[in-house]
Amino acid sequence: MRIYSTCTVCDQQLMLAELGQTQHPNCQTSSPTGDPLADAFLAAVEADDQHTADQLAAQLDGVDQRPPQLGRAAVAYAELGWPVFPLQPGDKIPYPRSRGFKDATTNLDVVRRWWTNAPHCNIGVATGHMFDVLDVDITRKDGTPSGALWEWVELRDSGKLPDIHGISITPRGGLHVLFQPTGGGNLAGFRPGMDYRGRGGYIVAPPSRRADGRRYQWWVRPSPHITARGQRPVEHGPHAA
Ligand SMILES: [Zn+2]
Repeated sequence: MRIYSTCTVCDQQLMLAELGQTQHPNCQTSSPTGDPLADAFLAAVEADDQHTADQLAAQLDGVDQRPPQLGRAAVAYAELGWPVFPLQPGDKIPYPRSRGFKDATTNLDVVRRWWTNAPHCNIGVATGHMFDVLDVDITRKDGTPSGALWEWVELRDSGKLPDIHGISITPRGGLHVLFQPTGGGNLAGFRPGMDYRGRGGYIVAPPSRRADGRRYQWWVRPSPHITARGQRPVEHGPHAA
């Protein structure tokens, strides 16, 4: 089993030598400030892109009152070819009157409209299309260990897992481990504390957050193997053109 990600500098495939690695050893970091927003501003100024520079300057000054980056992230996922749909703010259940993953789409206009109308919605991504997910719940709802951590370590070290193409961390400290899709469906509780999500399932994606403010975060950025990066995204769902 190998773990693949995407280099934060060159945006190309990155095979991890160790967890926590985010760029190729030879890729010079282009981040003099360490602040992506400030870097983007400097890049826009250098490129003489006044419009973008003004927008970024407003954000840097705190003038931009737009709530969280959820809408931007939802659009970015749709651009990767990931079918998305809105979840209730601070929650993992579908937005009222939505049909959940059945409404998931990569249609950018639809996605923009959803998050413009309800900017605080969390992001659901339908599984089984661009990736499947192993959902490892390390703690139960009451905070006690589920035993899944040991199951996960055993599974990971067994040599039986396919290559990993991204890992996100849930607010309860669980893991969403992303694989290339098998075409199969969901498999609940196939090991203690673990569910497998394929066709007919979904995950909550970063930077979605719980009501208490704790966020879902990327630990291993998704690899190009499970994204349509650089390709024309495939349209999914009832809103597809
Ligand atoms: Zn690189």
